[in-house]
Amino acid sequence: MKAPICEVCLKTEDILCPADEKKLQEGIISELDVKVARLLYKLIGDADVEFKKAVEAGDLVVIIVGEGQVALVIGKGGKNVKLLMRELGKRVRIIEDTKDIKKLATDLLIPARLFGVNIVYKPDGGHYYKILVPRMDKQRLPAPSEMLEKIISQIIGEDAKIVFA
Ligand SMILES: [Zn+2]
Repeated sequence: MKAPICEVCLKTEDILCPADEKKLQEGIISELDVKVARLLYKLIGDADVEFKKAVEAGDLVVIIVGEGQVALVIGKGGKNVKLLMRELGKRVRIIEDTKDIKKLATDLLIPARLFGVNIVYKPDGGHYYKILVPRMDKQRLPAPSEMLEKIISQIIGEDAKIVFA
């Protein structure tokens, strides 16, 4: 398994090596990344999986892994997800890494559908991503829209807003 911390750190429980400690201090990785990386390592060990990062908002943790690796990480009958939920005490969703914001939002918002994603330019020069969801799918979102907005913003490093249409 590949992770943002080294193999030695994956196998230990408490402290990080100086290099990974530095990454944590500099905000390149988070405490949650370290925790999830170690849990995943216990569950899937040497499997050919790359854990990219984890983000959380409210009671939802989203774990991002390499392309085509979601099923392996979820495990048979969702057994890995169940264990992760128990260990983290939160709901867990696994999605694959992508640079495509529309795909990211689609994967994250399932079973709600998506009309599309637009960039909205603000008068002050900034911008945000507007994620359009059919109004009738509001109840099908896997979490409240504010929580999902926070998760998406953390993943893409830009502001995102879910708008019902
Ligand atoms: Zn390390």
